[in-house]
Amino acid sequence: MSRRGRSDAVVVGGGVVGAACALALAELGLEVALVEGREPVRWSADAPDLRVYAFAPDNATLLDELGVWNSVRAARAQAYRRMRVWDASGGGELSFDADMLGRDQLGWIVENNLLVDRLWAALSAAGVKLHCPARVESMEQDIDSTDAGGVRLRLDDGSRLEARLAIAADGADSTLRELAGVQVATHDYRQRGVVAFVETEESNEATAWQRFLPGGPLAFLPFTGGRSSIVWTLPEEEAVRALALDDVAFNRELGNAFEARLGEVRVVSKRAAFPLRRQLAESSNAGKVLLIGDAAHVVHPLAGQGVNLGLRDVARLRDAIADARSRRADWASPHRLARWSRQCRSENAAAAYAFDGINRVFSNDEMHATLLRGLALGVAGKLPPLANMFWRRASGL
Ligand SMILES: Cc1cc2nc3c(=O)[nH]c(=O)nc-3n(C[C@H](O)[C@H](O)[C@H](O)COP(=O)(O)OP(=O)(O)OC[C@H]3O[C@@H](n4cnc5c(N)ncnc54)[C@H](O)[C@@H]3O)c2cc1C
Repeated sequence: MSRRGRSDAVVVGGGVVGAACALALAELGLEVALVEGREPVRWSADAPDLRVYAFAPDNATLLDELGVWNSVRAARAQAYRRMRVWDASGGGELSFDADMLGRDQLGWIVENNLLVDRLWAALSAAGVKLHCPARVESMEQDIDSTDAGGVRLRLDDGSRLEARLAIAADGADSTLRELAGVQVATHDYRQRGVVAFVETEESNEATAWQRFLPGGPLAFLPFTGGRSSIVWTLPEEEAVRALALDDVAFNRELGNAFEARLGEVRVVSKRAAFPLRRQLAESSNAGKVLLIGDAAHVVHPLAGQGVNLGLRDVARLRDAIADARSRRADWASPHRLARWSRQCRSENAAAAYAFDGINRVFSNDEMHATLLRGLALGVAGKLPPLANMFWRRASGL
């Protein structure tokens, strides 16, 4: 604890984004506390997490700098080298290849609970003070905008914490965001993402496949052991129906939806479905409370960017604080926090609305939308520099 017995930052929420944030700030030499409501589920090699991420190279670099990427890769991370995107009715096909970008891979498919497990393993060694299981009950912050201003939290285990900054990383239904009075604009897609692991007759070729269908996109992400992880976006009632099908019927419908690109498909795990929404906080900060990850923005999973955007909030915050400290300036000054907040808000809003637009045009079988996406995929497919530009932007390169 620093002067007057308070820490520099308290992070609420220890998912991938919150744990990475706590670690990044501790590595800068700040005194950090982390509050998490549930004991994290330990990763186990023989029980793969159904929630997997297409992890972007810039975020692999972030985790490498935090000293955890090697351990994630050694445990299980499937590199993917290619991506193929095509449309059920508009024609046109887009492909990205690592070779075209001069890279060994486009990214990695990684399980959520493996990332959390490895980040948590590093937290204690970095000196992060853990409060788990504990949830925030109340929050007060000084309106004072000077160095003396801070945030006080009361937890449901009776502890009281005080810090210069409080960081909300407690997910889409963030309590800390609500306590700070930050409003969100939410759009319910009335779609669900059905996830499962499948085996396919043919090799997945270390390729991420995505087919756009009128009900939503269907992605096959390459996983280890010849398996693929699917994210099948379906209208709500369709998703409920797909979950209730027996394995034989599910395999048949999934194979048809995927045009049997990898031959016969066989589901080899349980299935789950997540409701999908777009949600943007009106601001990424309220005084000394900062919002990161899903607490600030929830996006459609079609571009696999949710956790990637959250980790970019973390990298920006780390860089802004490191920059202030290198200039011997106040790292938590209101104008610095407001600048970080504006940058994050504008990048994340642009991404959320771009994915929204893609979902609207592609999850639609009206004629003008069909023509538009055929044209879009056709043009981008025939102009590799354009496709590369999109890819570089999406992957933070
Ligand atoms: C079907 C689907 C597929 C997806 N695929 C991808 C993908 O391929 N790539 C990608 O980048 N993203 C993907 N995402 C999005 C991704 O899951 C989220 O963006 C990501 O989990 C956000 O991380 P987070 O740490 O901000 O929040 P969360 O993972 O929600 O973590 C929040 C943490 O806060 C804790 N918490 C909550 N409330 C409190 C409280 N009051 N006090 C203390 N702790 C609290 C929770 O226990 C949890 O540990 C997908 C999402 C879905 C639904």
